[in-house]
Amino acid sequence: MQELVYLNGWVGSFDNAHISINDRGYNFGDGIYEVVRTYDGKMFAVDDHLKRLETSAAVLEIGLPWDKKQLNAIISDLLEQSEIREAIIYIQITRGTAHRNHLYDPDIRPNLLVTIRSTPDIPQSTYIQGVNIISCPEFRWQMCHVKSTSLAAAVMAKNKAHRAGAAEAVFVMDDGTVTECTSSNIFIYKGGTLMTHPANNRILAGITRKHILNLAEGMGMHIRPEPFKFEDMIAADEVFLTGSISEVIPVVDIDGQTIAGGKPGPITGKLHQAFISLRS
Ligand code: PLP
Repeated sequence: MQELVYLNGWVGSFDNAHISINDRGYNFGDGIYEVVRTYDGKMFAVDDHLKRLETSAAVLEIGLPWDKKQLNAIISDLLEQSEIREAIIYIQITRGTAHRNHLYDPDIRPNLLVTIRSTPDIPQSTYIQGVNIISCPEFRWQMCHVKSTSLAAAVMAKNKAHRAGAAEAVFVMDDGTVTECTSSNIFIYKGGTLMTHPANNRILAGITRKHILNLAEGMGMHIRPEPFKFEDMIAADEVFLTGSISEVIPVVDIDGQTIAGGKPGPITGKLHQAFISLRS
């Protein structure tokens, strides 16, 4: 088993991979990415991820020289070579390499990076005890539906959360609307209704989010993908986060205010179990 890097056709170790200082990802954060998880050597929802990658590229007008099938082949090949069964696959495409200039040549060739690493161990206590999170004013740009490598705002908010001893930061707009977290979507459950922010330009439409909404609907829950306010979140029966690596994480405390008696709720657990059954 070895962690591996694919960079524009080259394959090797992290230590030996190099890219130009003129890469537009390095200079401008002018790029997009995806994170795919594998379970026992199989990629989960890779079609969804590659579709979202194409959407991100289209919004930023990055012309992709690879179609989904070609990308899938490159990734699958690298995964097989790495022999890592429980992996995080990181796919990054930047607009390309050129002397620093906001203007770009429409014919510039994108740089493709794929890395394969082992999934980090998430302590079981995260799921059994739940996590606390903090709120943070929404100060990101208005194209959060693009999975852009420009992540300075998310980096700042996540580090603020970490310094406060919290697992995540949830973004809240001036009018109190809750959007999402730095690297996860957020759901609230109250009285049989499940809510999460609609998939518009204010959030990244998470792949896990999509699966959880489908599963909840199948269980007969009332689904409302609509904006909700900070007070609704504090008053919810249950709050949880979703993301490809962490799956479904219960939230038991927000800004020091206890949620649902400070214990993960049954609906969160049920949805997580249902999600686990999709993995095989
Ligand atoms: N929202 C943001 C801002 C993210 O960065 C991520 C994942 O990295 C998510 C939501 C969750 O998306 P997914 O379930 O596709 O991993």
